[in-house]
Amino acid sequence: MITWSAVRHFAEAEFCCACGACPESTHPPMDQDLVHRLDDIRHVLGARVRVTSGYRCPAHNAAIGGDPDSAHLTGQAVDIAWEGPGTIGGRRRMLLGLALSVPSGIDRLEIAPRHLHLEHRPERPAAVWVGTSR
Ligand SMILES: [Zn+2]
Ligand SMILES: [Zn+2]
Repeated sequence: MITWSAVRHFAEAEFCCACGACPESTHPPMDQDLVHRLDDIRHVLGARVRVTSGYRCPAHNAAIGGDPDSAHLTGQAVDIAWEGPGTIGGRRRMLLGLALSVPSGIDRLEIAPRHLHLEHRPERPAAVWVGTSR
């Protein structure tokens, strides 16, 4: 379980399934290492980071066309975007994501058109890939 009071820049609610229909009691906990590494990345970046997708229930994952084997289903993935005043956009965001994520221990990283998908799935090989997820 995560001690959310030790997470500096994010609240638990930001990682909840976005469908609004599945009971929170049925969600697995978010992966502790993933959240703490994301928190460290956010801390170094010094800019606001928005979680666009955290945990997904199977119905929501299917509804948005997620991979049936998605790490979002187990709380082992998070999608993030940087946006808003004083933030860093576009190509620079992607380069920063690479520069910060891999040394922070995020060894599975998708560079999607509008977000970065960060995974902590130790049972899978490390990979950085350019994807098409929305
Ligand atoms: Zn849901
Ligand atoms: Zn994702």
